[in-house]
Amino acid sequence: MTAKILVSACLMGHAVRYDGASKPLAHPAIDRWREEGRLVTICPEMSAGMPVPRPPAEIADGQAGTDVLSGKARVVENTGRDVTEEFVRAAENALALALETGCRFALLIDGSPSCGSRFIYDGNFSGARHSGMGVTAALLRQNGIEVYSDSEIDRLVAAAGFLES
Ligand code: SF4
Repeated sequence: MTAKILVSACLMGHAVRYDGASKPLAHPAIDRWREEGRLVTICPEMSAGMPVPRPPAEIADGQAGTDVLSGKARVVENTGRDVTEEFVRAAENALALALETGCRFALLIDGSPSCGSRFIYDGNFSGARHSGMGVTAALLRQNGIEVYSDSEIDRLVAAAGFLES
């Protein structure tokens, strides 16, 4: 089976972010992996039924995706609505797809309460951020999938030797 990489849909130019925008990542490796059929694209939040646009959400109280998965933290929209269940389902959907398709690696956009892997926002909707993972990134890592942020694409290229062939 061709080795695959799970990738955030908004990085692939899909307009699926909470504000209806995308954040396409331009890199020669993306073009090559697309041609080679290595990219498995998902928006975890949309897979869990969340609409576009949708209110922004953050993990409450400065906690992180691992805390959400262990039941110690909640994910809350700026409206105050608790969307923890949706975010956990989103992560489970992403993991199921990664396992079904044989993804050993994931390339996810940073900062998101789902896809963030190096930083997320602190739960106050103030723009303050801290080190930590979103819910999807945390669940993927807990299940042995190597997660890289969009700013680490060169590290992913180096780590995944098969991609050089
Ligand atoms: Fe992008 Fe992930 Fe947010 Fe979907 S859940 S919009 S793929 S960052």
